[in-house]
Amino acid sequence: MTITDLHSHRVSDNAIVNIDYRGDIPEKILFSAGIHPWDTDCKPDLGLLRATLSHPRAVAIGECGLDKLKGADIHRQIEIFEQHISMSEEMGKPMIIHCVRAHQLLIDMHRNIRPRQPWIFHGFRLKPSIAEAMLKEDILMSFGEIFNPETLRLIPDEKFLIETDASPLTIEQVADIIEKDTRFSSSDILDLSAANIKRILISTFAP
Ligand SMILES: [Zn+2]
Repeated sequence: MTITDLHSHRVSDNAIVNIDYRGDIPEKILFSAGIHPWDTDCKPDLGLLRATLSHPRAVAIGECGLDKLKGADIHRQIEIFEQHISMSEEMGKPMIIHCVRAHQLLIDMHRNIRPRQPWIFHGFRLKPSIAEAMLKEDILMSFGEIFNPETLRLIPDEKFLIETDASPLTIEQVADIIEKDTRFSSSDILDLSAANIKRILISTFAP
């Protein structure tokens, strides 16, 4: 199976599918699970989350993160995010991160914690100067149908990742949109994303 889509909320065999950790695990697919910042108001069941994440097809932790516009107050969100970071380090699984109006906080946390596991800021739409700060801190970024074209051109080939997230578009259609702002063809973009997802997230995956 070739995974070209870093993050999708739709069950698909070409994506890392974001599932609800309280529900059933769909067959065959690779998945991620976490507590979305928007759900931090409810009491999270971290024991159940840990059990879901110990499944061999759980290849990433998330989406989790920080959102200053929605969810619990930011201190509570930081607390829950830190619990995800501990699990990521302990289980050796990368993080898929939702981050709204908190990019500096994310950079500061990464700098303080110095995690061994990759952190991937998904659905990155921010300007080039912020992307440069992410690259400097070695935080990866993934791009969907809405993005800043100048930012996209800064991303090195070996860090290029794409996603559908909650879009009704297919990953091929997202690649077609992205193609216009890169030197790559749509099929090159899919290949690049697949190679990077394989290396960064699923190289150690054993079915
Ligand atoms: Zn998402």
